[in-house]
Amino acid sequence: MTFHPDILCPFCGLGCGDIGIDRDPSGIAPRPSGCPQADRLFRRSMAVPTDARLGGAAISMDDAIAEAVRLLGSSRAPLIAGLATDVDGVLAALSLAERIGATVDHERSDALFRNLSVLRRFGWSVTTLAELRNRCDLVLVVGPDPAAAFPRLWERWVVPEPAFADGNGRSVVFLGGAPLPETVRCLGGRLETSGVDTGAETDLATLVGRLRTALAGRLANDDPMAALAARLRSARYAVVVWAAGLFEGPQPDLIVEGLVRLIRTVDGTTRCAGLPLSGADNLIGANQACGWRTGFPLRTGFDGGGPLHDPERFDWRTRLRDADVTLWISAFRPETPPLATGGSVIMLAPPETSVAPEPALFIPVGTPGIDHPGDVFRADSVVALHAGALIDRGLPSVAGVIDRMLAALGQNARTREAAGC
Ligand code: SF4
Repeated sequence: MTFHPDILCPFCGLGCGDIGIDRDPSGIAPRPSGCPQADRLFRRSMAVPTDARLGGAAISMDDAIAEAVRLLGSSRAPLIAGLATDVDGVLAALSLAERIGATVDHERSDALFRNLSVLRRFGWSVTTLAELRNRCDLVLVVGPDPAAAFPRLWERWVVPEPAFADGNGRSVVFLGGAPLPETVRCLGGRLETSGVDTGAETDLATLVGRLRTALAGRLANDDPMAALAARLRSARYAVVVWAAGLFEGPQPDLIVEGLVRLIRTVDGTTRCAGLPLSGADNLIGANQACGWRTGFPLRTGFDGGGPLHDPERFDWRTRLRDADVTLWISAFRPETPPLATGGSVIMLAPPETSVAPEPALFIPVGTPGIDHPGDVFRADSVVALHAGALIDRGLPSVAGVIDRMLAALGQNARTREAAGC
């Protein structure tokens, strides 16, 4: 058995680089990391089926590529979604979308667009995980505990003492959500109570609105919200953290808008910035790559020739209903959401994935950072991380599979041209 220390984790977007992996001829297994995602997703067996499947029956990779090209090449309304892959995989998917006139979107883009819709209207002042760790002395967490989606957020980025905050430590206050048991344990004395009643009957938008009212000086001094407002104003560097993907209820973007306005108010008297977290399965990298290639974020379609962006019309959940062929890409985890479509599904996913119903075509692919190297973006959008390969199971990358599809599509077009079609 060999031990690999300090392996980069590509899954949730925090980019932890300290995962210990044991490897033997049967596969890889992580040393307990304290993260349920890493402990589950780094466990991979060498003994997995590597054949593609057509209607559940094993076929060769050559035949799978030919079938994918037949389906995609004749599609009138293709969709390329999931898009959970490394940057090379996303760029290849964008080339394919451009070639066949498909719409592109990431499975988790809801969380991103709850923030982007506000950024587009108002602009915002946001910070990075490094600033959170090194400079922030007060963390205001709004809504459900982000550790539900980013398990080691507190341990890695808040528990370490700030490097540039005069050694005064930092505090964490929750508003409108409760810390998870592990969060309570690891934050220990850093956790402050807000004193604000965040009972179930009080929705998050109302709480944020009340805090803004308090910041405007329109609440009595003995109101707990006024005390929280004063606490924000007296911090040297406050960071407001939220994970919009965890917000429940209608119009979550209105909560984000309230937070952006709140941050702007506090930032006028002391330093204050937001940290909107979204980004599992390289969501941020997919959005960046889409921007580089098209000038637009995700939820962009090529059915009119050039790229066209529309966050409602090109939401994958909306397009799935009408798509006659969907190429679903999910390279990081062996699970996929239910795909309610009347069209055909071509799925690129790890071989461990169990899918029901069986897609028309299943092509097993490797996971970036496990089966092949790959680049992914951190959840705060500013850092691209390179993950290496750990095992060779003969699984192709998403980029490798799509490049073969593109080559076959080009070959088909040349054949038709030569035949005068
Ligand atoms: S917190 Fe995220 S990046 Fe860190 S080990 Fe867990 S899944 Fe990986």
